[in-house]
Amino acid sequence: MSASKTGQLQRLDRAHHLHPFTDFKSLGEEGSRIIERAEGAYIIDSEGNRILDGMAGLWCVNLGYGREELVAAATEQMHQLPYYNNFFKTTHPPAVQLAEKLVSLAPEHMNRVFFTGSGSEANDTVLRMVRRYWALKGKPEKQWVIGRENGYHGSTVAGMSLGGMAPMHEQGGPCVPGITHVRQPYWFGEGRPAGQDPNDFGIECAAALEAKIRELGEENVAAFIAEPVQGAGGAIIPPQSYWPAVKAVLDKYDILLVVDEVICGFGRLGEWFGSVHYDLTPDLMPIAKGLSSGYLPIGGVLVGDRVADTLIEEGGEFFHGFTYSGHPACAAVALRNLELMEAEGVVERVRDDLGPYLAQRWGELGDHPLVGEARSLGLVGALELVDPETGERFDKALGAGNLCRDHSFASGLVMRSVGDTMIISPPLVISHEEIDELVDKARAALDATQRQLAVTTTD
Ligand code: PMP
Repeated sequence: MSASKTGQLQRLDRAHHLHPFTDFKSLGEEGSRIIERAEGAYIIDSEGNRILDGMAGLWCVNLGYGREELVAAATEQMHQLPYYNNFFKTTHPPAVQLAEKLVSLAPEHMNRVFFTGSGSEANDTVLRMVRRYWALKGKPEKQWVIGRENGYHGSTVAGMSLGGMAPMHEQGGPCVPGITHVRQPYWFGEGRPAGQDPNDFGIECAAALEAKIRELGEENVAAFIAEPVQGAGGAIIPPQSYWPAVKAVLDKYDILLVVDEVICGFGRLGEWFGSVHYDLTPDLMPIAKGLSSGYLPIGGVLVGDRVADTLIEEGGEFFHGFTYSGHPACAAVALRNLELMEAEGVVERVRDDLGPYLAQRWGELGDHPLVGEARSLGLVGALELVDPETGERFDKALGAGNLCRDHSFASGLVMRSVGDTMIISPPLVISHEEIDELVDKARAALDATQRQLAVTTTD
């Protein structure tokens, strides 16, 4: 695309387009980068720059870009039946076939799925479903849902209320009532409590959940919701002790477990679901993103037998659903995506080969003076930036994370920043050579950030 065409699109973008999660004013001043094409693990901008997509879009393009099989699945389904709904006792083949495929991949006790258009809608569905379940069980007072500080469950009103992102809660009026949050198992982010073992810290976080249940009264608590590994919060891998201890707490009380698999599902942690990696038995699993490798929008909630049987046997009509619940073209693409992932052994490759290789190469970045911690699991990773002088966080005002992100983008790697935590979540089809390139470019971005900060701090 010519420079003038790029400029024209940027002007139109500035004039008419309000972007998600964006400071509209500063974007207007800087202008957008225009992504025009993509192939494999790379995106290509309007100036022809090839950029390694270390984030798989927004943690979703699991199979990578340019898969003709997915284009064909969409095209065939659009010809056959571009739209019909699943309301009023109707359905269509792609929705049924996708439901069956999902159930075959999910933990054994999960045999049903409710489709949505996105992860946020999946979590809206979760909230309504858990409260409905307890009402049907004759315990309508079980209303409270406990989430975690800095958890992310979407951007709809229910999604952001279940999430624990303080800046989101501060905008747009009161959150949905009956939702509260407990501390997150973020060892590095909580200041590495002096002298404490991370596993003791994990136990302490689980104890905070138990204390909250007792404070609210077990008879008033409907569910606990959490991501297996927190994604948007900063690729936070909990200490080993955390999930077993949380499981023990939940087993002790009559409370549903909702495991948000929107990021961790479909191979990200080297298993089909994060719940399998952590040996969890969720009652509900919201899913989206990797379900269709992001080629078309689709989400859903996998429902365990305990909840589904009650909804079915005792429920009557569930007054909930979306025009695009199980959209035929989206469902056809998702089905093909899962079939390809299975046939190509993508998940096993992440577990046995790519995950360990990334852990080794990414771990090497831990020796960089700017890095306080380098961690990864499967194909998700994070670097915690610290001031080399003190080993502690930089002054927030320096915006070290954003500087590093910008250097990274400029050198041809998408690496995202959450505060001063750099995160990656590349396509699951990335090669060893591309992982090498990712690590080299991340190191170059760290070097450039260090040089720039040294100049800034000595000025
Ligand atoms: N849950 C989690 C764990 C997520 O990471 C996200 C999106 N980043 C969502 C829910 C919301 O999904 P969507 O953006 O598709 O609504």
